Amino acid sequence: MDFTDEDLILINAAKAKGGNVWEDPTLEDIKQRIKTHYRNGNAGHCCYCHRSFRGEFKFDIDIEHVLPKSKFLQFIFELFNLNISCKRCNMLIKKERTDFLIDADSIAQNPQQSDQYHLIHPNFDYYFDHMDYEVNIKNEIEMVKFTPKRPKGEYTYDFFRLNEIEIDMINQAQGIRSVKSNETLLSLPRDIKDDVKDLIDKL
Ligand SMILES: [Zn+2]
Repeated sequence: MDFTDEDLILINAAKAKGGNVWEDPTLEDIKQRIKTHYRNGNAGHCCYCHRSFRGEFKFDIDIEHVLPKSKFLQFIFELFNLNISCKRCNMLIKKERTDFLIDADSIAQNPQQSDQYHLIHPNFDYYFDHMDYEVNIKNEIEMVKFTPKRPKGEYTYDFFRLNEIEIDMINQAQGIRSVKSNETLLSLPRDIKDDVKDLIDKL
């Protein structure tokens, strides 16, 4: 996507106004177009944990600023610095951090170089060069597995605590199973339930 002349005027006006540029209401339409652009492109998923956004409501998807907007205002509307991510990766983990940069003090001079970033950059790196991402769904059990292949993959795996997503999915599968077995027992007629209890007591 390209910004129109009108977009650029609005962006520059918001920057000149100061304050919270990103939340300026005059930029809402531009932000929606950015989101749609990344969502419809190759990136129909979180750029860090690869969670799919298929069927997600758009307010569950954040526009991600790789270089945080609070610290790098000059890159707030630069497409090389933008992508889409889930709220877990963006708001709970990455937030305003800059420790994924080789050198936070000099990054502004070379913001478009992959080797300036410890993590897999959503725009300068191809995710699967650095990480294998596997999803298996069988019936009610969903398994997600990340296998880092290179240092950037390992860094991204640790930084975004991707192991927690793997474990979560296993727990979720177990949770579904235990809820269902309780429901089955509760839905039995009372006399059969009593018989079952008697049998268990005898054992
Ligand atoms: Zn994510």
